[in-house]
Amino acid sequence: MVAVAARTPLIAGNWKMNLDHLQAVALVQKLDWTLKDAGHESGSVEVAVFPPFTDLRSVQTLLDADKIAFALGAQDLSTHDSGAYTGEVSGAFLKKLGATYVIIGHSERREYHDETDDVIAAKVQAALKHGLVPVICVGETLEQLEEFGASAVPVGQLKAALQDVPADADIVVAYEPVWAIGTGKVATPEQAQDVCAALRAVIADELGAEAAERTRILYGGSVKSGNIATYMREPDVDGALVGGASLLADEFAAIIRYQKHVGV
Ligand code: PEP
Repeated sequence: MVAVAARTPLIAGNWKMNLDHLQAVALVQKLDWTLKDAGHESGSVEVAVFPPFTDLRSVQTLLDADKIAFALGAQDLSTHDSGAYTGEVSGAFLKKLGATYVIIGHSERREYHDETDDVIAAKVQAALKHGLVPVICVGETLEQLEEFGASAVPVGQLKAALQDVPADADIVVAYEPVWAIGTGKVATPEQAQDVCAALRAVIADELGAEAAERTRILYGGSVKSGNIATYMREPDVDGALVGGASLLADEFAAIIRYQKHVGV
């Protein structure tokens, strides 16, 4: 097997449809100051923020101007490159704006925008085509958990999303049980580990052992500063996708600094 460097933890903030561009700039500045004040060493953990489309340009300008080492991501992209697709945003535009990542298949898009596994697979292809790293979200609803257990649905969703993905593609996977998103309910660290291990096995089957070893798998669902460390201790959890708590600079900074305050 090819030797692969340890996976750098990734803490990603999904702002959803919150914060206009002025509020976005204020949050990034406050997060940066909070981390610097706390003596946080950037590099041990990768930080990424996922603002609404309308904020991307302002946030990117600030990151560049102040040399802030956060990666930038978008929350969605079009399957198309350009053309008569009113309201859509192309991966090419996101790349040009300095985005590194794009969230694909978030449960809110699956539920409210009827995104199917096929649409999600096409979006993964669009992201890769434009040099963006797709953050592929998978997760089961409470009904699915009760009927099939925790792993079956996320495993099926990931297999579908990885159709035609080359073995050397740079991807991130986020396991987000739908019943834990924004609800305050959380998967136990053991449950998160079991599903993340199953997802890593899917990557090994579909893309090979080296891809499985290198790819980061995040847990998401009501992650807070008080519970992040319990997930990060698990061998197959490489970070977190954080919704509500990423809108609060102090709380998100504490999540990013999980290694310091609990000694993981
Ligand atoms: C999310 O929507 O990706 C998420 C994990 O939200 P929250 O942290 O608010 O549960």
